[in-house]
Amino acid sequence: MSQSLHVLIVGGGIGGLSAAIILAQNGCTVDVFEQASAFTEIGAGLQLSPNAMQVHAAIGTAAAISEAGFTPDFAALRDFKTGKTYLRTPLQGLCPNRYGHPYIHIHRADLQSLLVQAAKDAGVTFHLGCTAQTIGQSNSAVSVETNIGRFTGDVLIGADGIRSVVREHIHGDMAPRFTGQIAWRGTVAAHDLPSDMLPPAANVWMGPNRHFVAYYLRGGALINFVAVEEQGQWTEESWSHKGQKSDLLAAFEGWDSRVTHLIKAASDCYLWGLFDHAPLPHWTQGRVALIGDAAHPMLPFMAQGAAMATEDAWVLAQKLLTTSNPTEALKSYQLARKARATKLQAISRGNAKLFHDASKLGCAVRNLKLATASKLPALQHIKLDPIYGINVVKDFPI
Ligand code: FAD
Repeated sequence: MSQSLHVLIVGGGIGGLSAAIILAQNGCTVDVFEQASAFTEIGAGLQLSPNAMQVHAAIGTAAAISEAGFTPDFAALRDFKTGKTYLRTPLQGLCPNRYGHPYIHIHRADLQSLLVQAAKDAGVTFHLGCTAQTIGQSNSAVSVETNIGRFTGDVLIGADGIRSVVREHIHGDMAPRFTGQIAWRGTVAAHDLPSDMLPPAANVWMGPNRHFVAYYLRGGALINFVAVEEQGQWTEESWSHKGQKSDLLAAFEGWDSRVTHLIKAASDCYLWGLFDHAPLPHWTQGRVALIGDAAHPMLPFMAQGAAMATEDAWVLAQKLLTTSNPTEALKSYQLARKARATKLQAISRGNAKLFHDASKLGCAVRNLKLATASKLPALQHIKLDPIYGINVVKDFPI
């Protein structure tokens, strides 16, 4: 039992904050180092499936998430032109009954801010405007050199996202690779649109070489959209690169009028390149471990990036809290998580092919399969049970 551990966490994103809360709630001393000087309104919608929500239920943040977010009735995969629904998954009926927890859409900034509050309540120390530069470790301790000084602890968690410096410490320079896909995102105030225009669902329109996702946030007051298109190259690094709305409209010209209406109603559009890298051979080294996107960048096509980071946080904390040797605890964490995260990475990549199919025959076969699954819930369960039905809280009790 390692309850007096001092844990250093690099990155105050969804994974880092979740790990901080769980460890601090269970007696560890936790320092979080976040390069941003404040937790501001960056990013837009995140989807939290029941496998993530069971962790939030365990740490006491589920009710606040439900209140701040939006509970969709269903998920719909639609035709890009006609808007016809090929697959309908009744999220509200299915998730609480079959998986024990709801499916929630939430603004990333809202989730981050309520996790920060929960972390402060648990006694976590934050160092904002603090960029981790290098990591050092010995047999008995680990340290991080930052722009504001050097900090030492028993264990270091790299929760610093896709461009992780902690990953660099373990694996050397492994620049993430551009997937050939870019994502646009924007938000629209719901009162700027006809009230029944967008169904209360996770709406996905599938078209040749691109797709469009739209859903409600903040109790239905805000609509989030993400538009993904295939494109040759990407040069920007930032999350907040402003794009031209006219470019986005041109890319989705001729699509279901709900799609073009949403784009026209957005005040600003941002775009980012989608990156990933091949599965890492290992996620830990001595007293250092990676979680979330730092370990396994997740393309957004199965909406599991935040969920996997949250599951990682729980399992890593459980191993640290129940294993006397921290190095062994981290190895055991990797063993418990790697196969699942790697599988989800592959499923997410595969969904891009499914959504973006450009061949007539491919689309006809896909649509027939989806329509069949719509009528036969058991077929949907076969696909969703291994994702939403995994309960790390039950499987790795603290
Ligand atoms: P992230 O959420 O990426 O968090 C990593 C954190 O580490 C960030 O806060 C970053 O500032 C910090 N960091 C990085 N390097 C250092 C360093 N050297 N020192 C200190 N801190 C460091 N996903 C969506 O689906 N929709 C969105 O709108 C969206 N917006 C996002 C906006 C931002 C600003 C970021 C960082 C991520 C966003 N994501 C979004 C991605 C999504 O949040 C993650 O894929 C997912 O939640 C996995 O979380 P993570 O904790 O592993 O990594």
